[in-house]
Amino acid sequence: MATPQLTELDHLPDGLLERPASALYQHFDGPALISLRGQREQPLVVSVLQHGNETTGWEAVRRLLKSHYHVDELPRSLVILVGNPLAAKRGLRRLDDQPDFNRCWPGGNGVDPEYAALFRGIHDRLLQMRPLACIDIHNNTGLNPHYAAVNRIRSDYLRLASLFSSKVVYFTMPGGTLSHSMAEFCPSLTLECGQAGDIHGTDHSMAFLEACLHLDELPLTPVDADAVHLFHMVATVKVRDDVLFGFGRVPTDLAFRENLDQFNFCELPAGTALGDLRVGAPPPLLAVDTEGAEVTDRYFSFDRGELRTTRDVMPSMLTQDRRVIQQDCLCYLMERIHFEDNEEVTGIDPLPEGMARSDTPRGA
Ligand SMILES: [Zn+2]
Repeated sequence: MATPQLTELDHLPDGLLERPASALYQHFDGPALISLRGQREQPLVVSVLQHGNETTGWEAVRRLLKSHYHVDELPRSLVILVGNPLAAKRGLRRLDDQPDFNRCWPGGNGVDPEYAALFRGIHDRLLQMRPLACIDIHNNTGLNPHYAAVNRIRSDYLRLASLFSSKVVYFTMPGGTLSHSMAEFCPSLTLECGQAGDIHGTDHSMAFLEACLHLDELPLTPVDADAVHLFHMVATVKVRDDVLFGFGRVPTDLAFRENLDQFNFCELPAGTALGDLRVGAPPPLLAVDTEGAEVTDRYFSFDRGELRTTRDVMPSMLTQDRRVIQQDCLCYLMERIHFEDNEEVTGIDPLPEGMARSDTPRGA
């Protein structure tokens, strides 16, 4: 299939807001930018459906616009980026012959030149608009709370994130994401809104977008440390290939506690029990840091038939889906960034030591 072209509109096509994500292909066969004028000229950019099966963003946008903006003027201009309507038609993240759109923005590695040019063009258009902020809406799988991710540690970025959730994740890898490519120019977020189709995700993101449209500005004054709990990815955890594992009280090498995914985004104190081990079984987990070095012993102990954490960590993307665990990983581990100790947080990016790189959560 040929690389799609960008469609640009300064109005909503008739009937667009009546269409679910799966029907947007009737209007667009590729990325579309829809610019709507509001009282304040500087626009808010909202990106939806970069992944075609992550429908919360479009549902939030169309419900927001249908709620009262067919009569009321928008308080601020709004630019809607519809990412991948062809994948949305099929309910897929992307089509087989497409790249992952959220890896194609400037900064991405090994991107097909035609897609790189397409997304570079959209990126440059967005920069011309000098947006107040850029918000890219996604969904994920498993039991995860809603959270915002930032690619820079600055008080205006954190303040915007805190309007969505007090838990904020910092990441810089993988490259080529929309939020990372815009972060050099304006406050920029990736929103993770739980599972697609969950009404709470739509409600939450719609309320957030409404609040953003009413913002006067995003001041650089320091954010309250209680308003933002900032975390960064420190390790990926896998179950070793030859280990037999299960959940609950089952006779196996490694029996994880039931409802393990309830620990997602909980700060676990050192010593938290995650499951039982068959006595004499070899260490069942493998933790690897963002540089690829093994760090299993840094985070886990396997003594006396118990799997425990050995330092304060916060897991994310814990899943009880055996296929995901075997093909991808058990979870990611995050640690807290104490940005409030850093007086420089208002202006530049005070990267804590050892924080040159980090992974984005599964789903983004
Ligand atoms: Zn996504």
